Amino acid sequence: MTQRPYNFSAGPAVMPVEVLQQAAAEMLDWQGSGMGVMEMSHRGKAFMSICEAAESDLRELLAVPTHFRILFMQGGGLAENAIVPLNLARGGTVDFVVTGSWSQKSAKEARKYAAATVIASNESDGHTSLPDPATWKLSRDAQYVHICSNETIHGVEFHELPDLQALGSNAPLVIDFSSHVASRPVDWSRVGLAFGGAQKNLGPAGLTLVVVREDLLGRALSICPSAFDYKTVADNGSMYNTPPTYGIYMAGLTFQWLKRQKEGAFTGIAAMEERNIAKAALLYNFIDGSQFYVNKVARDCRSRMNVPFFLRDESRNDAFLASAQEHGLLQLKGHKSVGGMRASLYNAMPLEGVQALVNHMRTFEQTQA
Ligand SMILES: *Cc1c(COP(=O)(O)O)cnc(C)c1O
Repeated sequence: MTQRPYNFSAGPAVMPVEVLQQAAAEMLDWQGSGMGVMEMSHRGKAFMSICEAAESDLRELLAVPTHFRILFMQGGGLAENAIVPLNLARGGTVDFVVTGSWSQKSAKEARKYAAATVIASNESDGHTSLPDPATWKLSRDAQYVHICSNETIHGVEFHELPDLQALGSNAPLVIDFSSHVASRPVDWSRVGLAFGGAQKNLGPAGLTLVVVREDLLGRALSICPSAFDYKTVADNGSMYNTPPTYGIYMAGLTFQWLKRQKEGAFTGIAAMEERNIAKAALLYNFIDGSQFYVNKVARDCRSRMNVPFFLRDESRNDAFLASAQEHGLLQLKGHKSVGGMRASLYNAMPLEGVQALVNHMRTFEQTQA
C-alpha cells in the first residue's frame, strides 16, 4: 500500500492502519461466521465474545480496578454532560473547573439538572493555563467535581489528576477524558467516573466509554432515561438496548493493537505514553524555537494530544493550510473559536507524521522569507 497522508484531525480522527486493514479483511465474514460484525445480533455468541474481549482488554490496558464498571454507551461526550448529572447530582450541588470550551459546555448542560458552580476557571488568560487545585473553592456538599482532563480545543491537559481527598473533599472526581483516553495511564484512585467519546483515540464515532466506580451506581434521578441510567446499563452488561456494535468491535481491534505496542522496555499504554511524550516534545520544541510559529499554552499544562499553534502573520494561514495539504498533511485547521492551526497527535499518529509536519513547517517558513 502506498503511504497514506498524515491526518491531524481532532476527531473523528486517524486510526491505526493495521486496525483498518483487519476490519476490511473481516468486513464480509468475521472469522468464518458467514456474517460481518454489523450484521450480527448483539446477543449472539459471536458478538458477545467480541464485546467481552474488548472490555477485558481495555480493563487490562488501563489497569481499571475491579470495583469500577466499564460501560459501552451511545450519545458521545455531549450526551454525558447531561447523563452524568442525571445519574450523580441527586438534586444537589455539583462543582465544575472550567479550563476550556469542553468543561464550559459541561457546566452549562449540568445547570439543567443541578446547581452547578464554577469553582475555578482559567478564562482570564484565555484558557492557556490550569488553576492550581489548592485554589479551587470546593463546595462542601458537592455531589461530584467535574474537570475536562484534556481540553481538545484549547490544548490544555492535566498531567496529574487533582487529589480531591487531599484537598479535604470526599466528592467523586468526574473526568471527561474523551481526547486523551488511552494516551497515558489513569490514576483511578483519584477518579469516580471517567467518560469519553471513542472518536478521538479509540475508534469510530458512535461509541461512548464510561468507567464508573461501583458505589456511584443506583443514584439516578427518576427522570433519567432508563437507557442512560448507569446502573441499568451496568446490570445489563451494556446491552440494555442495542449497543453500538460496530464501534465496540473497532475499539476492540484498537485495544488489541495497543496491547501489541512496544517502545523500549514499555508495552501497551506505557509504550504509547513514551511515544506521545516524544511526539509532543518534537512539535513544541520546534514551535518554541521558531519566530514564525507560536503556541500560547503554559508549558506545564500543554496537551500531548492537541497542539494549537499560530502563524505570527495570520494572513498566511490559508497558504500554510493549502501547502500542508499538498504535502499530505491533512486537517490542520484550528477550531473556529480559537483560529490558527491545530495538530492532533493521537495514538495512531506515528512519530514520522510529526516529523513530516515539523519539516514542512520549517520549509514553509523558509519560502515565506
Ligand atoms: C470531542 C469531545 C467531546 C464531544 O464529544 P461528542 O462525541 O461530539 O459528543 C466532549 N469532550 C471532549 C473533551 C471532546 O474532545
